Amino acid sequence: MERLTVELGNRSYPILIGDGLLGEVGRHVAPLLKRPRTMIVTDAHVAPHYLDRVSAALAAEGITVSSLVLPAGESSKSWTGLARLTEWLIGEGVERSDHVVALGGGVIGDLVGFACSIVKRGCAFIQLPTTLLAQVDSSVGGKTAINVAAGKNLIGAFHQPALVVIDPATLATLPRRELGAGYAEVVKYGLIDDGDFFAWCEANGAALLAGDAAARAHAIAHSVAAKARIVAADERETQDIRALLNLGHSFGHALEAETGYSDRLLHGEAVAAGMVLAHQFSAANGLCPAEDAARVRDHLASVDLPHSLASAGINTGGADLAAHMTHDKKMRGGKLPLILTRGIGQSFVTEDYGLDAVAVFLDGQQ
Ligand code: NAD
Ligand code: ZN
Repeated sequence: MERLTVELGNRSYPILIGDGLLGEVGRHVAPLLKRPRTMIVTDAHVAPHYLDRVSAALAAEGITVSSLVLPAGESSKSWTGLARLTEWLIGEGVERSDHVVALGGGVIGDLVGFACSIVKRGCAFIQLPTTLLAQVDSSVGGKTAINVAAGKNLIGAFHQPALVVIDPATLATLPRRELGAGYAEVVKYGLIDDGDFFAWCEANGAALLAGDAAARAHAIAHSVAAKARIVAADERETQDIRALLNLGHSFGHALEAETGYSDRLLHGEAVAAGMVLAHQFSAANGLCPAEDAARVRDHLASVDLPHSLASAGINTGGADLAAHMTHDKKMRGGKLPLILTRGIGQSFVTEDYGLDAVAVFLDGQQ
């Protein structure tokens, strides 16, 4: 088992990583509890595989457990899902010192985290992420949210988990397409500030996606360490440090909005294409060598991730795509900060480029 720590000023929390950890999660949860009682929240795809295992591991430590299984998919991250979950927690008699367990992907983690930030004015929660995306990204860092009519993640809070337990063996049941989408976020850490890790991805990404346990373990530990470092440096994204995690996300956001956040393009798939576009936009503006942009495109293409507008299924004009970016919640004073790059592993935040320049560039990518 590997143990990392997220250091946040006067607080910190552990991240445990290891195959099979779900089966012994009670041992790690029990010491945190004031009373032997917890509530597990999961979704309908995850429950048949892992709910009994987690419940049994908690029960083995004398913990009384109840569980709620929500519909799988983004629709649970909604006002309706939030109402159902918070009412259920209250009905179960949740106390502020309780630790609610989020068992699932980013949808369950974001929803449970947000519910726990408001129920009884805040209770604790534990992340048991079961998708690659959640294991390398969303379960760590404390961003929680639901989606509303105007857009994704617009209602939310910063609420850090008390513990994150990552069992990479759960990825064995994850559909290949979801695994690929999570892998895009792994590659992102290399592109942000770690060229050596991008080279590792080039050499090992295919094996990871084929199920190689050692490659999987390395990628998760390395990614989580990078995320923990970035979050520790800038917990609430008040500096430009945490914003780097949005590499590929502004371009990606435009593609997701264009496809209506549907199954046509998963979040990680949009980020993959978005990272290529961010590198190509940087190259087109003389910031980054064209060969680096080509390397990013070639690697993502080699693992069957979208790596262009066409491969993402987008044939919309640049102005319409750029217009989606203005609805991005990262807008600052009417300007959209873009994450651009000087080369692989050398990304930075800039407000030097207007949406008109982005629109012209995107037209050239059709
Ligand atoms: P998800 O939670 O919808 O999971 C994807 C699918 O896989 C679902 O159908 C789920 O039921 C299923 N699944 C999960 N684990 C499984 C397993 N082990 N075996 C079989 N099936 C399994 O999606 P996701 O990609 O994990 O997360 C996406 C969400 O995360 C988005 O809402 C996004 O906004 C959010 N997110 C949040 C942050 C953050 O910092 N909080 C960061 C990135 C993304
Ligand atoms: Zn993302």
